[in-house]
Amino acid sequence: MEIKRILFATDFSEGSSNSLPYAVDIAKKYGAKLYFVHVVYDVAKTSGWYVPHASLDEVYKDMEKNAKVQLEKSVIEEMRGNKDVEYSVLKGVPYEEISRFAEETKIDLIVIGTHGRKGLDRMLFGSTAEQVVRHAPCPVLTVRLPNHA
Ligand code: AMP
Repeated sequence: MEIKRILFATDFSEGSSNSLPYAVDIAKKYGAKLYFVHVVYDVAKTSGWYVPHASLDEVYKDMEKNAKVQLEKSVIEEMRGNKDVEYSVLKGVPYEEISRFAEETKIDLIVIGTHGRKGLDRMLFGSTAEQVVRHAPCPVLTVRLPNHA
């Protein structure tokens, strides 16, 4: 078994930050590169709602910029000397983008939380963890929050 590339997918929730040490420690142990990924929901694509394009483009540009900053901030304290890292902010349906990225980047292992944010997006689009497990081209390590039902 070779683990050279690990994808850690985060929605900045407690559930995903709880799974971060697993990604970082496994990367360290195997000398793997870490790919930190956040997906900005593409509301128009996923819900079928009509949203005027011109106004959305600006909003998404801002969201992607902010997400990149938040992504780097959210992992920096847990890096434990790992330097071989890459940050990516994608746009679309999270499980589709995570699976596609994993395929294109030849990821060997995906690490995600069993639970994420509980907002409207979760109500609309369902469980990302479940869908990633079903669709990913590689093994997926799901990490449950302690004492979470
Ligand atoms: P969920 O199944 O939606 O409650 O989320 C479970 C896990 O999937 C989270 O803890 C994250 O690791 C990952 N995840 C959920 N949404 C996203 C997203 N938009 N971008 C990246 N990872 C995500």
